[in-house]
Amino acid sequence: MAEKTIFKRIIDKEIPAEILYEDEQCLAFRDVAPQAPSHILVIPKKEIASLDALSDTDSPLVGHLWQVIRQLAQKEGLVDGYRVVVNCGADGGQTVDHLHFHLLGGRSLTWPPG
Ligand code: AMP
Repeated sequence: MAEKTIFKRIIDKEIPAEILYEDEQCLAFRDVAPQAPSHILVIPKKEIASLDALSDTDSPLVGHLWQVIRQLAQKEGLVDGYRVVVNCGADGGQTVDHLHFHLLGGRSLTWPPG
């Protein structure tokens, strides 16, 4: 059997994380190496390796993730805006093979990203 990703181990509560939100479909926790004052990862509990691995039937799940992101941004008080990033594949800078959305805010973010 393939080795669990670090995010699957967080879902299974095998390793600790600062969990901010959880329901039957998803989990949100603070990034261990924050790139902004607020840096939260929102992940589906379903094991989806990347954005590229989404199927058409995942659309309701993805819609739910966006609603959770929006609510977390409100809870974090990101009234001046925020950014949501999905790194996909090697060139996209993805390092954990479990779909995740980065919610970044709390400072003015530069553009373009590196
Ligand atoms: P990516 O480079 O888009 O795959 O993002 C992976 C993110 O996961 C990085 O921002 C890491 O800092 C973060 N990360 C890795 N391990 C952990 C962990 N145990 N708890 C929280 N965040 C983590």
